[in-house]
Amino acid sequence: MKITDVRCATIEKYPTIRVVTDEGIDGFSQVEFYKPYVTMQTPLYRSILVGQDPTQIERVMRSIRKLGAFKPWGSIVSAIEVALWDIAGKAANLPIHRLLGGKVRDRVRVYNTGGVVYASATALKNGKEGFTIAKYATGYHGTELAHFAGHTVNDWDAGPGRGINRGPLTERGLCHQIEKVRTLKAELGDGIGLAMDCGPGWTLSDAIRFAQAVEPLNLIWLEDLLTGDYSPYTSPSLYRDLTTRTSTPIHTGEQIYLRQNFMDLIEHRAVDVIGPDPLDVGGLAELKWIAEYADLHSISIAPHGIGDGILGLAALIQVSATLPQNFIAFEFPRIDPPWFDIVQGLPSPIIRDGFVSVGDQPGLGVVFDQEAAKAYLAEEDAGFFD
Ligand SMILES: [Mg+2]
Repeated sequence: MKITDVRCATIEKYPTIRVVTDEGIDGFSQVEFYKPYVTMQTPLYRSILVGQDPTQIERVMRSIRKLGAFKPWGSIVSAIEVALWDIAGKAANLPIHRLLGGKVRDRVRVYNTGGVVYASATALKNGKEGFTIAKYATGYHGTELAHFAGHTVNDWDAGPGRGINRGPLTERGLCHQIEKVRTLKAELGDGIGLAMDCGPGWTLSDAIRFAQAVEPLNLIWLEDLLTGDYSPYTSPSLYRDLTTRTSTPIHTGEQIYLRQNFMDLIEHRAVDVIGPDPLDVGGLAELKWIAEYADLHSISIAPHGIGDGILGLAALIQVSATLPQNFIAFEFPRIDPPWFDIVQGLPSPIIRDGFVSVGDQPGLGVVFDQEAAKAYLAEEDAGFFD
């Protein structure tokens, strides 16, 4: 089998890669960034990939892995890896989880990014999906601090781009952060684990005080306090100082590309939980390798997820089914958008009792209804499925 083309389109709002072969089997994947970034680079990837055997996944990856970097620059490489697994699975008539060693769980726990679907923690708690973990944005994550004058020592910069706002909090700001967590925990009760996506941008000393102050609330993790999100680096020694000074689990890793860049965090036990995204870290096999290595060091894994897109969700289900017992849950921000009807293969409803069941269909486990999907293609992408 040979690769004959690499195409890119926007389906709904999600950049999507299609790897075309000469045997009528195609691989699909979502890209976790914006389409112009994908369109710009597609000719480069096409020039390298055309002619290669897509089922020799590691050999193909060795030809393109050098082109990636921390988020978002690893997203196309990662998407191609997933599309290759999709092809390999379809060619073998096996789901990807079988090719990765087999599923060790028949259903996968997901966590909801609170506030995206449900306006209040109480509504999420009573929601039909039965979520067992919810995550909320706070601190420098998002723009919450922009709304509170006097909560940061440096003025909030409303300019474009992430990573601009960082620095010490004022006492009022720190107390507000702690109170927000207490309020959320009181609403959710002890039946739903609470995680907070916090930054990046906190100083180490503020992060230590915050993590210590919320210790009695038994949070499931605090995410990206120091670096993370779109930081093009990690800070393992700072994270180790934080992690060793609090019993609250500390989490990072969604922006990290490749296993080598997790080594310091894992070997020095600099965090308690890692959160790679299969569509940024370099793909499904890369994420599995990292999860296994973390498990040897008593570090848990809660993958970041673009599960609000169909193919991102499908990729997360496949790999999460194969991870060791350090797996907590993957991120699932949205719930059953109507356009999910453009594929067959997802469970209905998708989430039951806070879990997604793992199917046995080949490849990624989802098949486009191409006529239905065409309605969600951007105008310039009308020929994507041809
Ligand atoms: Mg995050």
